[in-house]
Amino acid sequence: MSQGDHSDLLARLSVWQGDITTLATDAIVNAANSSLLGGGGVDGAIHRAAGPQLRAFCATLGGCPAGEARLSPGFGLAARHVIHTVGPVWRGGAHGEATTLAACYRACFDIAHAQGLTTLAFPAISCGIFGFPFDAAATIAVRESMSALAARADLKVTLVAYDAAASQLYEQTIARFA
Ligand code: ADP
Repeated sequence: MSQGDHSDLLARLSVWQGDITTLATDAIVNAANSSLLGGGGVDGAIHRAAGPQLRAFCATLGGCPAGEARLSPGFGLAARHVIHTVGPVWRGGAHGEATTLAACYRACFDIAHAQGLTTLAFPAISCGIFGFPFDAAATIAVRESMSALAARADLKVTLVAYDAAASQLYEQTIARFA
């Protein structure tokens, strides 16, 4: 890959610190649990902001296994859609957690591509209640984002950090890919 290509990818990958429910992207990604019926953390925040129609819609989806993703409308959110993905629960790292987390990112990018969604915002999937170490997860998030950006010239990806420490770690991880 030439330097020019690489800087184009980096120009379409950004880090933003704050509440993902406020973003007016084509889709925000939800770090859901396998029931898709709502939970704590970012999942709870997305359901609260979207309103009860989101839970009613998700109840028709029949759940989602770890490593896969499902699409819903955004309902009361500023974002037009929500892509719900189920990250792995961290169990020490020897249970395929990294592979499953990478599969989550790819599944979200696949849905975005199939639906023609170009602006996507991701929370740090699995890095809260599910216990995935943030630095390892950030490397996977950046690596998978870079390959999706390379595959689609119209795609823009925002990695959403909920706090300053996460924001700094994402920036450092992106700098390693630069
Ligand atoms: P998981 O169950 O996949 O670990 P969590 O929701 O517990 O999901 O946490 C995933 C990440 O989302 C954590 O880094 C957490 O700090 C972050 N987070 C929580 N609420 C929000 C929010 N409203 N916007 C963006 N990120 C959030």
